[in-house]
Amino acid sequence: MSEDCIFCKIIRGDFNTKFIYENDYVVVFEDINPKAPVHLLVVPKVHVESLNELEDKTLMAELLQAVKDVTKKIGLKSYRVLINTGEEAGQEVPHLHLHITGRTAKGL
Ligand code: AMP
Ligand code: ZN
Repeated sequence: MSEDCIFCKIIRGDFNTKFIYENDYVVVFEDINPKAPVHLLVVPKVHVESLNELEDKTLMAELLQAVKDVTKKIGLKSYRVLINTGEEAGQEVPHLHLHITGRTAKGL
């Protein structure tokens, strides 16, 4: 948990963000500035700065499992997953997150 990290604050519930999906490892919520009709962020509950700092292999697996679980939950059958890593690649929030983008989800 990092004091002034925006995603840590969201995880703490500071902004009453609606979680589309949550388990022991991750939360999933809608991107505030969506770049596709469906745009979700899968965010680990522990503060890990980027994929470069991720060493926990259980968490690695849980992140992808969460992608499968949340897309199934909302009926999103076709989608992309993106991880911006480092400023040069466009990472704005220094708390690891997976973008899921897609066109339509009947359960969202
Ligand atoms: P990245 O550029 O990969 O670091 O992605 C950060 C993403 O977080 C961007 O797509 C932002 O729109 C999104 N974002 C930033 N602040 C919030 C917020 N408070 N709630 C939801 N999404 C956010
Ligand atoms: Zn954080």
